[in-house]
Amino acid sequence: MRHTKVKDLLNSTKTLQEVTAKGWVRTFRNNQFIALNDGSTIHNIQCVVDFENTPEATLKRITTGAAIAVTGELVESQGAGQKYEIQVKKLEILGDSDAEKFPMQPKKHSLEFLRENAHLRVRTNAFGAIMRVRSVLSFAVHQYFQQKGFVYVNTPIITGSDAEGAGEMFQVSALPFDNTPRTEDGKIDFKQDFFGKQTNLTVSGQLEAETYAMALGQVYTFGPTFRAENSNTSRHLAEFWMIEPEVAFNDLADNMDLAEDFIKYVIKYAVDNCADDLKFLEGRLLDEEKSKPQAERSEMALLEKLNFVLENNFKRVSYTEAIDILKDSTPNKKKKFQYLIEEWGADLQSEHERFLVEKHFKSPVILFDYPAKIKAFYMRLNDNTEPGKETVRAMDILFPGIGEIVGGSQREERLDVLIEKMKVLGIEEEELWWYLDTRRFGTAVHSGFGLGFERLVLFVTGMGNIRDVIPFPRTPQNAEF
Ligand code: ATP
Ligand code: MN
Repeated sequence: MRHTKVKDLLNSTKTLQEVTAKGWVRTFRNNQFIALNDGSTIHNIQCVVDFENTPEATLKRITTGAAIAVTGELVESQGAGQKYEIQVKKLEILGDSDAEKFPMQPKKHSLEFLRENAHLRVRTNAFGAIMRVRSVLSFAVHQYFQQKGFVYVNTPIITGSDAEGAGEMFQVSALPFDNTPRTEDGKIDFKQDFFGKQTNLTVSGQLEAETYAMALGQVYTFGPTFRAENSNTSRHLAEFWMIEPEVAFNDLADNMDLAEDFIKYVIKYAVDNCADDLKFLEGRLLDEEKSKPQAERSEMALLEKLNFVLENNFKRVSYTEAIDILKDSTPNKKKKFQYLIEEWGADLQSEHERFLVEKHFKSPVILFDYPAKIKAFYMRLNDNTEPGKETVRAMDILFPGIGEIVGGSQREERLDVLIEKMKVLGIEEEELWWYLDTRRFGTAVHSGFGLGFERLVLFVTGMGNIRDVIPFPRTPQNAEF
């Protein structure tokens, strides 16, 4: 008999004579009540075993983690907590699970322990919920852009341009590690390497996406991105997924509008389509926060926080205004910041970003018009800025509890200004000849941004560590699984 998903059984509108469910045992109580989960929903279905007519040997094999199939009648449940349950008529053990050895015991495990068992942690309520929410969010990303007529572009994962400057790169090579071919002056001879040149894993698909925006108008990427940054933080992965829209004829204001509309759309989509999972994750967060001192607990519960973001405009604040706020702030005056803000031009650290978002504005913030010196070469130089105080049309979106979730800009569309900037930074023109062609042939105002998908998933699920919102995290010293 075909089996029915647990989710559909629980959502049934009537009792059913005979149904089959397949899944994994979460718990087995009183030799009678199986809580069965198949991953289709956070909820388990209760399967009531007729233990008097079930062989003792079979009952013993109904253990946490075992895969089973049950067939029986779907009846209204007498017990609290569920509308329907299965009165089991036939039970088959599909795969045993040694209760002594199965690591996912029906008790609370630390997140650290679960990370070490990333292949099994998805069998817990929390990780099942997180991964379903992640999946729904990625669908919403495509839905949003596709509905608006954006073209999905797959930019290369192995790249030959080393001028992007977005972060430390992983090198890609097919050369042997020992006996590496060398040039006469002793350097590694990449001419003999697979691609005949030095290559890396991409840190961003932006430059390639820009070339496509200059033909297709509105494009987006959604793919893996790699950064060999040795920052062991709860916000950085060595391998993460980035969404990078790029739009011809959009200026910085349009870019901000797009980013805000997009983020709200995908969050709303998750709120509307992941109600059970988000409710569970809200409870998990409340529980976790009980162990924190009052001052460190969030002011809002998870769903309230998500709705707050949906209902309020992101605050748009220029870098210059932000510096003034930070200079006058209590933590700056009392020297509580690790990096004190003394003058215009300072790069903002996450402590500053978090102060602005969490303490000052208490809302998502879009910071824009940053000093040119601290931003990438391709960002549009603002007209009419004082010498020494040049700014570029950059924007970062900062989120409570997350910090930077989006980094973007209007791009420098003027060939001469772009080349001059590259010269100053020592970026070879030959290296980016193809990129410069976009400015040579039919250049136009255009803008885009990058959103780190895992940071979005962090925010929506209320989790605190980025390692817990991607199935198999890649971080310094960790590439297990
Ligand atoms: P941060 O200052 O947080 O390191 P960044 O300035 O290096 O970020 P960008 O180069 O602008 O970030 O990348 C765009 C987006 O990609 C960021 O806003 C963030 O959401 C995400 N991101 C960047 N680096 C990482 C990482 N190592 N792991 C996960 N997401 C990242
Ligand atoms: Mn970074």
